[in-house]
Amino acid sequence: MNAYRELKVDGYERVLEIENPAAGLRAWIALHNTRLGPALGGCRMWNYASREAAIEDVLRLSKAMTYKNALAGLDFGGGKATIWGDSRQKTEPLLETMGEAVEYLHGTYVTAEDVGMSFEDMKVFRRKTRHIPSINAGDPAPATARGIFNGIQAVCRQLGIRDLSGLSVAVQGTGSVGYVLIGLLMKSGCRVTASDLNQDRLKKAVKDYGVTTVGVDEIYDTACDIFSPCALGGIINAATIERLSRAGIKAVAGSANNQLAEDGLADVLRERGILYAPDFAINAGGVILLAGETPAGFDRELVDKRLEGIGPTLMRIFEASEKEHKSTVRIANEMAEARFKR
Ligand code: NAD
Repeated sequence: MNAYRELKVDGYERVLEIENPAAGLRAWIALHNTRLGPALGGCRMWNYASREAAIEDVLRLSKAMTYKNALAGLDFGGGKATIWGDSRQKTEPLLETMGEAVEYLHGTYVTAEDVGMSFEDMKVFRRKTRHIPSINAGDPAPATARGIFNGIQAVCRQLGIRDLSGLSVAVQGTGSVGYVLIGLLMKSGCRVTASDLNQDRLKKAVKDYGVTTVGVDEIYDTACDIFSPCALGGIINAATIERLSRAGIKAVAGSANNQLAEDGLADVLRERGILYAPDFAINAGGVILLAGETPAGFDRELVDKRLEGIGPTLMRIFEASEKEHKSTVRIANEMAEARFKR
């Protein structure tokens, strides 16, 4: 049986610690803010260094979901779950007991797959809980890629680039999102350079789209209009900004979560004249897809409309950033807060 412990954390509505030694489960679910609706955010499984690290991650990620969902115009709050363990060793009892933990919250938390968790794992959760929208919505990565593509078009409008043909983009990471994005860019006539640690994935992008490749470190020095990080977070720091700037990069627009190593770097990008599409504004395609699951069934039209909305949202952020002399991240935060703090 699961043991539940409520943790009191300032600024969070509810943080739950879950333990089930028989199933090998040690997990946390954080509901940051549910003023707009049930907390929506994925479940991550990671081999954390400590209990504190797992809690820190669930708090940081659930708060980011509040901002992402609010900015995307969704009637969902922000939440996240973390499981402490090696995702290669997960078992059915562990997944079922985590499903029970989601059900324990009676729909105030709605989950999906995240790092270390797959669509197949969600099917096991589903034996114990109904609160898994991705079961009907399907893989969120193509929707995320479409949102990034729409966002890149808005970036071009802001930069005064009228035509995507001739645009050059450096894509870091050719995984689920990066691969689909490369296809959309190449079909629009863009010149794409890509890197990936995983040579098989990179080779597939070369074979299917004829993309040019560079080494994982060289991507920061690739002369392009736009740098599109679609791998890991934390890759924008003082040193990489310097290199991107020297390579003539005009904008950063990609899917990776938490791209900035520190929040203040949004100001540094602005000072260097590099337009930054805030990650939580441009990469909302996945949650938009999940939010398409309504009581009346899956609403494809609503999803398409909201994906198209990512471009106009970014335009509003860029325009306000220019007018108010604030970083795009600050403006995006204020816009999200205006919704969920109202
Ligand atoms: P993925 O695991 O399918 O792909 C990531 C790719 O990045 C892998 O091929 C990996 O080998 C590569 N990679 C890792 N480190 C690298 C490095 N230093 N240089 C180059 N390549 C590197 O993940 P994904 O689903 O494509 O997601 C990509 C990013 O977008 C992640 O940060 C994820 O959190 C974020 N994101 C994804 C979605 C989604 O719907 N999948 C939604 C929102 C945000």
